[in-house]
Amino acid sequence: MRRVLILGGTREARTLAARLDTAPDVEVISSLAGRVREPVLPAGQVRIGGFGGVDGLTDWLRGNDIDAVVDATHPFAARITANAAAATRTVGIPLLVLRRPEWVPGPGDRWHVVPDLAAAAEAAASLGERVFLTIGRQGVDAFADRPGRFLIRAIDPPDGRLPADAEVLLARGPFTVADEITLMGERGIDVVVTKNSGGALTSAKLEAARHLGIPVVVVARTPIPDGVASTSDVDEVVAWVARHRGGRE
Ligand code: NAP
Repeated sequence: MRRVLILGGTREARTLAARLDTAPDVEVISSLAGRVREPVLPAGQVRIGGFGGVDGLTDWLRGNDIDAVVDATHPFAARITANAAAATRTVGIPLLVLRRPEWVPGPGDRWHVVPDLAAAAEAAASLGERVFLTIGRQGVDAFADRPGRFLIRAIDPPDGRLPADAEVLLARGPFTVADEITLMGERGIDVVVTKNSGGALTSAKLEAARHLGIPVVVVARTPIPDGVASTSDVDEVVAWVARHRGGRE
């Protein structure tokens, strides 16, 4: 029996948990950070909450006899990915990152790629006055002191300070292109801000922005730590888990 920890919080993580839950000789435990109020729970065992940094995760992996870890967290959850790389190295167990492909600009897109949210706030201020902020719940305070009218969409209410003129729209994707075009048109949006999260669930806003000729400020991803293997293919992860029958290297 192999015991596999999935660091989750994404649709891909749930897909993987469902696949591994029915695989023979695999016991799968999914871990969620516990940020979303009503998370969609994956199949199989679930634990919720932080581990307490690299040391906490290292102890947890040892204490729970984990044979392999799949980091299927969101592409912008960089700290847990770095912690997983360090902890699995210390314990001597394999780690694979499951990460959905990035969005790439197509013809007609007016993308402004920036390295972080501070740069995104700067860029958005120079591009428009009515900002559609779709960066999730975290990091909105980078825009708090910026002028302009903000439409902020997230699953749960945003953390921290908000811009003075902000409308919060609580919604969970998927969204259709038609709905996004209507929303942006109704609110008179003239710039969209997003992280390069990738995936089909929330990509309609990009297509809508292209259709409307609106610029999009795109925050680039933090690279996966050096030496850590990654894939965007759930089948590959399932095969990888099967290969690590013996677990510890
Ligand atoms: P982060 O900055 O990389 O992690 C911050 C801390 O949260 C970590 O040090 C860890 O605490 C805890 N943590 C994160 N993911 C965890 C997991 N799967 N299980 C247990 N603890 C976890 O992460 P984040 O950006 O706050 O994201 C938190 C979670 O939300 C992730 O699981 C991610 O998949 C999901 N999510 C994030 C985004 C986003 O835009 N960042 C979007 C959608 C979903 P300890 O150090 O105490 O272990």
